[in-house]
Amino acid sequence: MAITAPESTATVTLTIDGHEVTAPEGATIWQAATAAGIDIPVLCHDERFDPVGVCRMCVVDVGAPAFAASCVRACEDGMQVKTSTPELERSRAMLTKLLVSDQPPRERDPKQTTTADNELIALAERFGLAPDGTALPQASGRGVDLSSPVIAVDHDACILCDRCVRACDDIQGNDVIGRSGKGYDTHIAFDLSDPMGASSCVSCGECVAACPTGALTNKPINNIPIRPRTELDAVDTVCPYCGVGCALTYYVDREKGAIAYAEGREQPGSHGRLCVKGRYGWDYAASPQRLVVPLIRREESYPKGALSADVRGDMAADGESNDHGTASNGDPSRKHKGGKRGRKPGGLVDYAEVLPHFREATWEEALDVVARRLTEIYTAGGPGAIAGFGSAKCSNEEAYLFQKLIRTGFHTNNVDHCTRLCHASSVSALFEGIGSGAVSTTFGDIKNAGVAIVTGSNSTANHPVASTFFKQARRNGTTIIYVDPRADKMADHADIYCQLKPGTDVAFYNGVMHEIIRLGLTDDEFIRARTSNFEALKKTVADYPPERAEQITGVPADTIRRVARAWGGAKAGIIFWGMGISQHTTGTDNARCLIALCAITGNVGKPGSGLHPLRGQNNVQGASDMGLIPMFYPDYKKADDPAVRARFEQAWGTADLDPNKGLTVTEIIGSALKGGVRGMYMLGENPFLSDPNINKVRKALAKLEFLVVQDIFLTETAEFADVILPASSYLEKDGTFTNTDRRVQLGRKVLDSPGQARVDWEVVQDVANRIGLDWHYETPRQVFDEMVTVIGSYQNLSYDNLGSTGKLYPNPDPARSDGTVVMFTEKFNTNDGLAHLVPAEWLPAKELPDERYPYVLNTGRMLEHWHTGSMTRRSYALDAIAPRAQVYIHPSDAAELGLEDGDMARVSSRRGSIELATKVSHREARGNCFIPFHFREAAANLLTIDEIDPFGKIPEFKFCAVRIERADG
Ligand code: SF4
Ligand code: SF4
Repeated sequence: MAITAPESTATVTLTIDGHEVTAPEGATIWQAATAAGIDIPVLCHDERFDPVGVCRMCVVDVGAPAFAASCVRACEDGMQVKTSTPELERSRAMLTKLLVSDQPPRERDPKQTTTADNELIALAERFGLAPDGTALPQASGRGVDLSSPVIAVDHDACILCDRCVRACDDIQGNDVIGRSGKGYDTHIAFDLSDPMGASSCVSCGECVAACPTGALTNKPINNIPIRPRTELDAVDTVCPYCGVGCALTYYVDREKGAIAYAEGREQPGSHGRLCVKGRYGWDYAASPQRLVVPLIRREESYPKGALSADVRGDMAADGESNDHGTASNGDPSRKHKGGKRGRKPGGLVDYAEVLPHFREATWEEALDVVARRLTEIYTAGGPGAIAGFGSAKCSNEEAYLFQKLIRTGFHTNNVDHCTRLCHASSVSALFEGIGSGAVSTTFGDIKNAGVAIVTGSNSTANHPVASTFFKQARRNGTTIIYVDPRADKMADHADIYCQLKPGTDVAFYNGVMHEIIRLGLTDDEFIRARTSNFEALKKTVADYPPERAEQITGVPADTIRRVARAWGGAKAGIIFWGMGISQHTTGTDNARCLIALCAITGNVGKPGSGLHPLRGQNNVQGASDMGLIPMFYPDYKKADDPAVRARFEQAWGTADLDPNKGLTVTEIIGSALKGGVRGMYMLGENPFLSDPNINKVRKALAKLEFLVVQDIFLTETAEFADVILPASSYLEKDGTFTNTDRRVQLGRKVLDSPGQARVDWEVVQDVANRIGLDWHYETPRQVFDEMVTVIGSYQNLSYDNLGSTGKLYPNPDPARSDGTVVMFTEKFNTNDGLAHLVPAEWLPAKELPDERYPYVLNTGRMLEHWHTGSMTRRSYALDAIAPRAQVYIHPSDAAELGLEDGDMARVSSRRGSIELATKVSHREARGNCFIPFHFREAAANLLTIDEIDPFGKIPEFKFCAVRIERADG
């Protein structure tokens, strides 16, 4: 292993067990020995934490009167070290014996089925001390805590090594665990000695991964026992949820055909960390509700419309709970069973209600219908009558093939995906400003930043592992500025928190730039040599002195000045942003300001500086790179450029690609409403819940002449389908995925698909061939090899050189390098190589609060759930932790409205009304409320408006006017 601790290039030479070893100055003996292949046992030590040397297991003989703890003792020149002598072994054996004798009986609680990878037991076995059940009597004194849905705590098995404390504090930055009690009663404690399940623990499981005994263990999920690692298959892959793309290993019980548990895996971007979704949220794939056979809508179920009574609005809520109809997994002849009609909705499509409207079909029949109907509509209505929504959850290969199918099969650029709903405005501004839509540096580069602005990004919930790097950087001296209308957890970790009014970002950043220019904190040489249009920007921001910015944003002028000084005075700074910036009708203007702020201070193109729009889905970066967007071919080549079109016509062997940009997600819905788009292929998207103003979406979907939905579950959108194709989950296929850092990683097949469900790229190919495209891809690798020929940024990458940790693109030499961290060191990707500064004037949001609708609604995600909830609400752990929809309201607003925690509230906008539980939250500002959009039974997007940003065409999910009242009022 590499010795990483010291930064010095000086070395020392010492002798360890008779071998001469050279180590960097400052390295510990344990590091030097390990690098030389010499094993020294440890219990309290883990290289990811600061060493504490409390367990004394790693002591070595350095010729001094007392043994030295090798995990903390630094190497010295000429030092003579012995790591294994009879005395040392006796000391370690005695320590182990004492610790083991104080362990509880291993089988006392079946839920404690821990890893048999218990390091203490392994040591006991090494010293011939395997536990014989004769634990000391006091070994059962401190008890167990089973209050967390996912983690079992056995205080009696704890050896107080503090690895969990350091994992929680130093690695995840959650600061939940400490110590409580005295003497023998000393124990680890969650918050103020609360039960773990009632504490502020976010169930990241880092403490479990760190625990060397059975004190903190994963509980079995869905009764799949956690057996020793040696009895399970290890599959290295990548987390299927967010754009952070954490590397992980699934341990698979092949006998049961199921995952037993997951562990983080070392990779330069995630360093083995996971959040609750990655560590515990994978069992959705084994849900008995998986679609396992193709389905065709029955004749009697036309005309089309929503099939669920609650969506149709004709259901009597009778208060019964919904136990969800199920499909017997893996059996194509299964019968769907479930509850009665008219029950109160429980959060997922009621299969018993919807499935009778479909009949089972063979793949041949279903694919024939899909090809025939889409071809008929295309023939009658032309290219404009067809559209496709692809998925940012599918692999790069699948995204590439899907857009190729729509473009070459139906000669239209009407192909889009959920990037339109997350960072379309950021991409639009980035292309205009610097000629590239991808991040200019990685999130891990924050370690080199003097200052970082995290803005419009609830990162602890949306990009949890990236946020651990932010928190860690702050501990190491980086100043964190957090700018967001919600004082979410990142605010707790910020040096400066700016709670601006929603929709006032342009005024805030213009105010900051005004002050930076006034104080002379600009990088004039960078502005001169590497930017254009500075004078126009300067003129615009001159109208935003901090006092005026304060009037608009509500952020005190002095705080704006403080931000300007912190940003302008730092040696390097990065801006991370999320959908709080992009999901506005001014989203492109917001991002333009961030680009300008970086550029005028020279904060692009050097370590610790740059622009990082945190990408949402696991493969939204890749899907965009692959051209799953209506205005770009793969690699962001303009769809309406004749030269580009000619190039792709040649590459794809076709003669009639669409010369015009296609329609975006929201435009396709609008066109369908007017009868323009009449046939759609929906691959893994659920616009019924994810798009704004879903009453409008519902009408559009109902109006389509033909809709094929390819998905793993029966979604709300599938209720409008003519044909439903059962797809493979992420865990059931090979493919590549590109994370927010531009890291291209291999996702590997973990499980077989249930029933007749099929891998998505194969289904897309079957449709392609039925409409006459003559495709012959045999593997995802073959698709990747073709992709690379048309996507310059992925040049040199291949399945053979991505390795277990993936590679960043661009990457001139993947054999030697992880790829490019910092982009634009010399010039930008614009035509003239300069950053184009685009001034923006502040504009108010489209729908402001008034007397009837006095609150501002903000929508977004929560840590435990993902998008439309189709995966996470079928995950035992995630649903157990966060089972219900809530509206977050400031305590004073709640008091005025007569609402207390848990009371049912009715939230209404001009477009609809939903009922959900109240969450009184000090993190909201007065007059604002927040609703996560994952919950079908209280769909936030029933309330949102479909006004869009004119450039990125992204809807204004973050701002609309609502009324709140007691639901029983
Ligand atoms: S699960 Fe995570 S947040 Fe909870 S105590 Fe363990 S390390 Fe801390
Ligand atoms: S941070 Fe994102 S990629 Fe990492 S484990 Fe969590 S959801 Fe998965």
